Amino acid sequence: MSLKEITKEVFTRYGLTEEEIIARIRAGVDIKEILDDNVFMQKVSESVKSQIRDLTEYRIRSIVSFEIGTAEMNAWLKQFKSMGLTQKRWVHYGSDIPCDVCQANIDVGYVPLDYKFEGVFGPIEAPLAHPHGHCGIVYNEEELKKLIRDGKFKVWTGE
Ligand SMILES: [Zn+2]
Repeated sequence: MSLKEITKEVFTRYGLTEEEIIARIRAGVDIKEILDDNVFMQKVSESVKSQIRDLTEYRIRSIVSFEIGTAEMNAWLKQFKSMGLTQKRWVHYGSDIPCDVCQANIDVGYVPLDYKFEGVFGPIEAPLAHPHGHCGIVYNEEELKKLIRDGKFKVWTGE
């Protein structure tokens, strides 16, 4: 199967996208070709990113309390860790302007997964910093690409 066919297959059948890609990378077939293809690598990263973004927005909409929001964000942290990622970054969603507490968290940029952000109730590893917060957590895209290149990316299957 050619790289073009693989790409088409994995991106038209969305569900197993990363697994199929990783399976092929692990199989050692076309590794050089895959890694030399920047468009392909970009698509892998975009796919993972949009999957996380979509779920995050869906979940943010369903958040009815500060506690649930915090639990969701900590679940994302666990997911990052299970994927082999080591860095996180605080981000703000929505059109409103972040408050001073959240802005300070945004300003530190990428930090280790166990880094403690500021929260109104004390140090926290993930949003929310306060009730009715509109913030989330993202991974480092460059780190993800490096994991994939190094064959260390682990597919998270939802457990
Ligand atoms: Zn805030």
